[in-house]
Amino acid sequence: MKKQYIIPIFVPHLGCPNDCIFCNQKSISGQKENMTKEKAKKIIDNYLESIKKEEAQIEIAFFGGSFTAIEPKLQEELLEVACEYVKNGQVESIRVSTRPDCIDKETLKRLKKYKVKTIELGVQSANDYILKRANRGHTFADVKKASKMIRWHGFKLGHQMMVGLPESTRIDEVNTAKALVKLKPKMVRIYPVLVVKNTKLEKEYKEGIYEPLSIIQAVEICKEIVRIFADKNIDIIRIGLQSTDEISNPENEKSEVVAGPYHPAFRQLVESAMWYDAIVAKIKKLNAKVKEVEVTVNPIDSNNVIRA
Ligand code: SF4
Repeated sequence: MKKQYIIPIFVPHLGCPNDCIFCNQKSISGQKENMTKEKAKKIIDNYLESIKKEEAQIEIAFFGGSFTAIEPKLQEELLEVACEYVKNGQVESIRVSTRPDCIDKETLKRLKKYKVKTIELGVQSANDYILKRANRGHTFADVKKASKMIRWHGFKLGHQMMVGLPESTRIDEVNTAKALVKLKPKMVRIYPVLVVKNTKLEKEYKEGIYEPLSIIQAVEICKEIVRIFADKNIDIIRIGLQSTDEISNPENEKSEVVAGPYHPAFRQLVESAMWYDAIVAKIKKLNAKVKEVEVTVNPIDSNNVIRA
């Protein structure tokens, strides 16, 4: 099987009409300057130089900000650059991430023209009150409408949801996962909320209005959500923000994270905890009093089990 590579191109805050309570895209993406077609080309060429193409399945991904909210001329310029690599066979596909209220027929036609294959929507919650509280500027009805249109136009649909938003409870988050399953995404990302510098959430945190989840709380909720998506064979492509210089332990000097359930291998914490639950459940089923138990697992899972 070919190895999958993603060439990430961050388009920080560019074109985003909003100011979500938790967002400082420039910190999260680690990029302070705006993206241009020249920079995008350079990023792609640099990545391609380091990838053995015969063994690779390569995708260019426009992350961060809200891609389809960028002014159409710049969208076209960036997509044109990426599309050239698809046409000449160096890259297999293109993906973009955006907001649900920035999807319409014209936008989808544009993305189709430039061979975009996957569209990821930042959903965050299915509860309109929590969306409003987080200053998302859209409702869950927008998510439903955009998801339908994306699938109807033949794109692969992805969703991103958050756990630990202000006033959101475990039940809200489980309900969000269940509501997303109904919209049939092919893939999801689950992000526990981190308090990032220079956001409205940082202010609320400092004023004692917002209390972030602990790592244990975030892991417990993510376990439940992962089961909901996994039961429906929805690919969980990420759990927790990717660690970078900026998204790192709040104690690091360069970290932009002030508080919250940050862990450099958050996904592994969740998977280990799920393995632990499964092993304990099996032992209980045996209903025997023993001092030691021998567990045999596939070597590819050994990391999760040893850590559990
Ligand atoms: S929509 Fe996305 S980019 Fe815009 S403020 Fe919210 S999280 Fe940040």
